[in-house]
Amino acid sequence: MSVHIYHYNTNSEQRFFLGENRELYDIIALNGNIVSYMPAGVASFISTASKMFYIDPQTHAFQHSTINLKRDVSNKEEREPPKFEFKPSIKKLAQERLGSPFSLVIEEDRPIRTTDFFRNDGEIDDNIITNICQNVVSFQLETIMNSLDEETKEFLDSEDDFRPEFVIAPYFYLSPRQFREWFKINIECYRKSCEIFPNIQIYLSLVVSKKALQRGDEIISAISELKPMGILIWIDEHIEEDLIENDISIYIEFLRKLKKHTDIIYNNHGGYLSILLCHKEIGSLLNGVGHSINYGENRSVIPIGGGIPMARFYLPSVHSRLRFGDALHIVKDSKKWLRSRDDYRKNVCCCTQCMELIKEKKGNIVEAFDAYGESYPVTFRRRSGTVISLEYPTKEARMIAARHYLFNKAKEFSDLEEFSFEILLQKLENAYDEISPYLGDELVAHLLNWKEALKDIIQ
Ligand SMILES: [Zn+2]
Repeated sequence: MSVHIYHYNTNSEQRFFLGENRELYDIIALNGNIVSYMPAGVASFISTASKMFYIDPQTHAFQHSTINLKRDVSNKEEREPPKFEFKPSIKKLAQERLGSPFSLVIEEDRPIRTTDFFRNDGEIDDNIITNICQNVVSFQLETIMNSLDEETKEFLDSEDDFRPEFVIAPYFYLSPRQFREWFKINIECYRKSCEIFPNIQIYLSLVVSKKALQRGDEIISAISELKPMGILIWIDEHIEEDLIENDISIYIEFLRKLKKHTDIIYNNHGGYLSILLCHKEIGSLLNGVGHSINYGENRSVIPIGGGIPMARFYLPSVHSRLRFGDALHIVKDSKKWLRSRDDYRKNVCCCTQCMELIKEKKGNIVEAFDAYGESYPVTFRRRSGTVISLEYPTKEARMIAARHYLFNKAKEFSDLEEFSFEILLQKLENAYDEISPYLGDELVAHLLNWKEALKDIIQ
């Protein structure tokens, strides 16, 4: 069975993890700064969800320019100039949980550098590695447990319910710049964590840029000696819809070689291409894939400005979140799939959310579909003085779009069990043939690229 991971990013997303939604996924991925900042709240959420979880200690966050860890606290109404301060959650994570050298980032306002880990003679400083492994692993093992009150602890069947499924050794981002040094630090951190905590499941986190992925053989050779219990990968800005055949081949080849030296590989941020790579007929090159609530199939390592979200609709056959206008154009104007409930079920979506909407709108399919695009205008003035007006999705539209997305993601996982790899690839081509005459290639070409790159894997 392939593991379906949900990333938990903000408390407002809690409802998607609870109640009936519990059935749609397997593991919760928690961010270190949330766990650090509000451990009691997270503990209560975990006990309600009653699902497996792991904690990302986010150690790589401290190696980038510190502006990424700050927020603007200036008074905008007084038109004060921007004034940046470290986010309180990051401050707490570094100073109270992870300790030195992470705390130096806050105290000295500078990123962690490779030189923080090397002695003057060019060797890695074993004391520093031991210290960070001790702190980073203990943080994941104990923080939630320690924040439970005594009464709750007494009623626990097992303390293991509040322990992560596995812990992640300290890790840093790998780009072509200083690749060797950071990679060496990562490998040493993994080795040392296993030495200090011999009875704990410890995974290696590989966060790489697309360019660093091309140095796959260097990574593989170190990992063949290390034989990690499990590996989490995260490729920076790996937008699967944008990959050309050659990119996909590099990705697959990397996974294939990696898989020889570990039993478990999860892609922390992946889309349907990665889900297909979980298929057992191709030897489960991946064992699980993660995403956030209606986003996060890809993520960039350094956050870049959020921007205003537009209403999007995850079109199941295209396995992509299209702008609502594009989705509407396909299903209503081009394909006439909104004519009847049966047409809609067969060609667009048969998820619980879509069916509930149709019922709510008394069988009016067009009205039901329009609910996904409900928005209100937001007007703001740019610094240049230009007035911009944008359509911002309503809270309700975002809620139902997320629910529809999650039902469909769960279906993509269950399809792995239900259909052969060949049939799933054929479905990609069918969807391409169906839609490309109306929308052109831009929004659906990935379906053919995926199919072409994947068909060679079947041996
Ligand atoms: Zn749906």
